[in-house]
Amino acid sequence: AIEVAALRKSFGELAVLKGIDLTVRAGEVVCVIGPSGSGKSTLLRCVNLLEEPTSGTVRVAGTEVTGPDVDLDQVRRRIGMVFQAFNLFPHLTVLGNLTIAQRRVLRRGKEEAEDVARSNLRRVGLTEKEGSYPAPLSGGQQQRVAIARALSMGPELMLFDEPTSALDPELVGDVLAVMRRLADEGMTMLVVTHEMSFAREVADRVVFMDDGVIVEEGPPRQLIGEPRLARTRAFLSRVL
Ligand code: ATP
Ligand code: MG
Repeated sequence: AIEVAALRKSFGELAVLKGIDLTVRAGEVVCVIGPSGSGKSTLLRCVNLLEEPTSGTVRVAGTEVTGPDVDLDQVRRRIGMVFQAFNLFPHLTVLGNLTIAQRRVLRRGKEEAEDVARSNLRRVGLTEKEGSYPAPLSGGQQQRVAIARALSMGPELMLFDEPTSALDPELVGDVLAVMRRLADEGMTMLVVTHEMSFAREVADRVVFMDDGVIVEEGPPRQLIGEPRLARTRAFLSRVL
């Protein structure tokens, strides 16, 4: 589970997160929607401590990651993150991309790391690409490799920051299908997305953020279908 309480984040004078309370229970899928600049990425980056919160607390699986004696590497190991940009190592094969952190960070041996990598390549439907380098792969394939790489670290939960927004439209579906399967397998997921049909069909809850606060949240049918607040309705009318 992820428990965010009274989270604030400022960059200098600019207050970006203005008191966020959000819980994602184990096995739950929560989608975050909201306009550009509303603080969605900053929220995700505070959860895995790529950004240091200005105040407030973040707990991941019961551990307060904002506490004083926290082992950052330990925390990040439990959290898989997938970004808009896939950030694969261009000089490594797909298998190399999936094993390097397992070997260096988790100290797994070559054989074990490759076994884990192959089982995750199977999960994302790319078994036949293990020997390929990233460059010739499509954006959708590269993003599925990035997901398999994150899964290979055995995370307890996954953060996705607009994983499909850099992709050509015809490649989006394959990536969403992989995410949907992960959700069905019970992975805890916090997903920033503009894909309303994904949010509607896969999310347990949808959170609408605007200007550094959670304006409204609820089950997708309610939040997307019958939003209570004018601000939410105005946003949805622009994206639906
Ligand atoms: P988008 O939909 O465009 O990805 P977002 O909701 O993810 O937007 P954030 O990236 O979280 O928004 O940014 C929120 C605000 O914080 C923006 O005004 C941005 O310029 C600012 N910001 C983000 N990171 C930094 C930083 N490292 N230093 C200064 N300002 C930052
Ligand atoms: Mg963002």
